Amino acid sequence: EVRVRFAPSPTGHLHLGGLRTAFYNYIFAKSRGGKFILRIEDTDQSRIVPDAVRTLENDLQWAGIVPDESPSIGGPYGPYEQSGRLPLYRDQVKCILEAGAAYYCFCTDRRLDLLRREAIKARQVPRYDNRCRHLPEAEVKKRLARGDNYCIRFKLVSNEESFEDLVYGKISYNIALNEGDPVIIKSDGYPTYHFANVVDDHFMKISHVLRGVEWQISTTKHILLYRAFGWQPPVYAHLPLILNTDGSKLSKRQGDITVDNYRREGIFPEALLNFIIDAGGGFTKDVARTKSRIYTLQELIEQFDISHVKPSSCRLTPEKLPEFNGLELRRRLADKEESAVLVQEVKELVSRTFKDRLENQKLQLQDDHIMSVLVWGEDRITRLTDLVNSNLAFLWIIPSQHALEIVASEANNIGVLEDMKLYLSKLLETEFHRDHLKKLLKDFSSEKQLPFSKLMKLLRSAVSGLQEGPGVAEMMEILGRASTLARLDHAVT
Ligand code: GLU
Repeated sequence: EVRVRFAPSPTGHLHLGGLRTAFYNYIFAKSRGGKFILRIEDTDQSRIVPDAVRTLENDLQWAGIVPDESPSIGGPYGPYEQSGRLPLYRDQVKCILEAGAAYYCFCTDRRLDLLRREAIKARQVPRYDNRCRHLPEAEVKKRLARGDNYCIRFKLVSNEESFEDLVYGKISYNIALNEGDPVIIKSDGYPTYHFANVVDDHFMKISHVLRGVEWQISTTKHILLYRAFGWQPPVYAHLPLILNTDGSKLSKRQGDITVDNYRREGIFPEALLNFIIDAGGGFTKDVARTKSRIYTLQELIEQFDISHVKPSSCRLTPEKLPEFNGLELRRRLADKEESAVLVQEVKELVSRTFKDRLENQKLQLQDDHIMSVLVWGEDRITRLTDLVNSNLAFLWIIPSQHALEIVASEANNIGVLEDMKLYLSKLLETEFHRDHLKKLLKDFSSEKQLPFSKLMKLLRSAVSGLQEGPGVAEMMEILGRASTLARLDHAVT
C-alpha cells in the first residue's frame, strides 16, 4: 500500500514551498490509491508557535488537501504529533544502544564550541570528532550514575552509500567522511529530526518519502539508521527547489507567500495549485502541454507521474497567478451552483470590508445586483477582492442623503434627475453600456440646454455619492439598469 506523509514543523502558516510538498505527496498518494498522512514534527520545542497545528490543518483544508490520518482525524498509527510519541523514541533508542549502533556522548557545549572554532581557524568544515564513541563502558556507567549531562549519538559507519531517487536518479554520498556522528537524542531528552523522522516513517508504514531537495543530503544518514534497526527504508523522491523569477530563494520568511495571505488576497485554491505545478512539472497528457485552463484536482491526480518531475529548480512566474485566478473565476461563473456561491462570497467580502464605513449609508447587496456586477467584472477582474477596491466602492454603498446635498442645492436638480430617469428607463438592459450611455448623456445635455460638466457632477453624485471616480457612463454601465434607476429614485425621494 502506498502511504506518504507531509511532515511540517508547527511554525505557523503553511507557505508556498510547504504547500507544494504537501500537494505532490497528496496527488502521488491519490494517483496510486494510497493514503496521505499529516504528521507534525514538533520536537524542536523552541520553534513552536501556539495553535500552529490547527492553522496548518486549516490551510491544507482550504487548498483541498485532506489527510487520511492526522492529529485531528487520528488513525491507526497515532499519535500524529511527535511530542506525543516520546516513549516510542525512548524504546527505540534503547534498541540501537544495545546493538552498539549508538552511544552516550558527554561532551560539553564548551568543548563542542572549541572544536568548531578550531575547525574554522583551520578552514575546515566543523564536525564532531566522535570522541565519546571510544569511552570505556565503565566510564560511561560512572558518568550516567553521577548524573552527567549527555546526548546520544548515532555511529556513522559506512563507505559510500547510494540510493535511487525517483526524481534525481542515483545519488551517492559518503556521509561518514563528511560529517561527525549525529545526535539522535538531545540532552533535553527529545529526539532530533533525523531520529524521530526515521522511527516515525517506519512505524507509520510510510512507503514513499517525497520532500524538498534540501533534505536530500540527510537521506544517506536516514538510510544508515534504517540499516542499524534492520528495517527496510522507504522509496525516496526529492522535489526541486522553488525559486523566484530572478533565481533567488523563495524564503518562508518573506511573509507574503503564506497560503493564508493568498487566501485573504482573493486567490482561489485551484489557481494557487495550478500556479505551483506550472513551474514544477510532473504531469503527462494535457496538463503537461497546455496551461490555458485550470485543471481540477481530479485531473491533476489522474495525470500526475512522479518520473516527469524535473530535477532542475523551478522558477515561479508571478504574473501567472492572477491569470490562473481569472481563469478560475470565469470557470466558476459559468457554473450555476458555483456562481451562486460566488455571490455569497462577495456579499460577505463587501460586508466585511465596508462595515466600519457605513455612517447613515446602506449597502446594496441583493443577489441580482451582485450577479450583474460579476458578469460585468468577468473579463476585467481576476480576484473577487478587486471588487472592493476603493474605486469600486460606489457599487456597494448607496449614497446617503447627506452625500447628496448637491441634489438639493438647486431647485431645478430634482426635475433634471426625474427627466433623466425617464430617458434611461427607455433603454433596454442590453443598451446599458458605456458608449450608448455616453451618447444619451450628451443628447440629454444639449436637449435640456444644461452644461455637460454640471450635469455630470449632479449625476455622479446621485449615482455614487462621489465627487470622483470612473466616468458617469461607465458607472452606470457597471451598476446596470436596475441599480442606476433605483439610485436615481433614491436621490429624488
Ligand atoms: N520536519 C521536516 C520539515 O520541516 C520534514 C522533512 C521530511 O519530510 O523529512 O520539512
